[in-house]
Amino acid sequence: MPAPPISSRRDFLGAAGAWGASMMAGLASADSVPLAPPDKQPVDVAIPEKPEKTVGWAIVGLGKLALEEILPAFGRSRLSRVTALVSGHPDKAKKVGEVYGVPDSGIYNYETYDRLADNPDVDAIYIVLPNSMHAEYTIRGFKAKKHLLCEKPMAANVAECEAMIAAGREAGRKLMIAYRLRYEPFNKKVIELCRSEELGPIQSFSASNCQVVEAPNIRLSGELAGGPLGDIGVYCLNAARYCLDAEPIEVSAFAHQPETDPRFREVPAAVSFAMKFPGGVLATCDCSFNASESRRYRVQCQKGFIDLENAFSYEGQILTVASEKRRAQLQIAPVDHFAAEMDHFSECILGGNEPRTPGEEGLKDMKVMAAIETAAKSGRVERVCS
Ligand code: NAD
Repeated sequence: MPAPPISSRRDFLGAAGAWGASMMAGLASADSVPLAPPDKQPVDVAIPEKPEKTVGWAIVGLGKLALEEILPAFGRSRLSRVTALVSGHPDKAKKVGEVYGVPDSGIYNYETYDRLADNPDVDAIYIVLPNSMHAEYTIRGFKAKKHLLCEKPMAANVAECEAMIAAGREAGRKLMIAYRLRYEPFNKKVIELCRSEELGPIQSFSASNCQVVEAPNIRLSGELAGGPLGDIGVYCLNAARYCLDAEPIEVSAFAHQPETDPRFREVPAAVSFAMKFPGGVLATCDCSFNASESRRYRVQCQKGFIDLENAFSYEGQILTVASEKRRAQLQIAPVDHFAAEMDHFSECILGGNEPRTPGEEGLKDMKVMAAIETAAKSGRVERVCS
């Protein structure tokens, strides 16, 4: 038997009677609604405005962080553009310069670094070098009269941090430490929740930041000021301080340096530490270079808790807020941490404001880390020097 003919749209609607007729009337007017966007573009397209002024940046040290995170972030930043590169490897710097539109005249090495002073296209310098080099290159950058953003940990010790702050003051230029989590919305939301005391007063804080580090790596070198505490433990410590909005008074700590593993000849594999805050709030933290990746914290309040999973990662934060009655996962649009951090500093430079994480913030962490290192050696509770 031949297949029945497929009805046309008109036949089908006609068969529907009076109801069909009114539908047809509706469809007739619907037909006049334009379906393709007018002017061949979405009606709600947001056309970016060119900012009046932007800030030119020099990136110092073209290692993993600079190449994989910081330089790509310029594509997502509003006020920051890369205008110079500093590297000990001229071929690499030239290649990277070609990708990001940095002219040959904007390429420097560690000997010619000070000539940044003569480059009017550079307003800010971002130090992305091994920790032992942060102080020297920050201070030299201030001598070149530039503003400085320095990676964490701020430096190798307290004296270096103090010298960096003093150099910034003397030059009349700004110093910011690259605590990127203070510029991304999940950690900012946690801070807001903590300050609101919606879940009652904070009773304790716990954090863990772990990853496996294989040799060779700057993180395993004592001379380059590596080690898990400054590299990843500092995130736990900094988060405890920003969640509690307080400074620890006393610390105790253990460090584990396995003699059988050659990776840990110069730095510990793991450090665990406890901090006592005013009013008796306790924080317990651990960091390891020999445990599978896991980065999280929990703020334990009297009437609930706040959990941030992947708290210290570049992306993938999961924020859970639990009270006695309900548990909710908050949906927040993520941002590029490095673009947000650099744009904050650019905004401060353009507007003459102080950054949210100035050198003093890095110094506070360094003082606590000094006490943690002493406690791990002495086996005693140590006071944090103020
Ligand atoms: P990396 O080893 O990949 O890069 C270090 C760069 O420094 C390389 O380009 C290297 O050539 C250069 N360098 C110059 N002199 C050197 C020397 N004497 N020895 C070794 N390298 C030398 O390291 P990275 O992971 O890019 O880390 C760089 C800095 O960034 C560190 O301070 C680290 O703590 C920080 N960091 C921060 C984050 C963050 O999320 N904010 C993430 C990773 C690293």
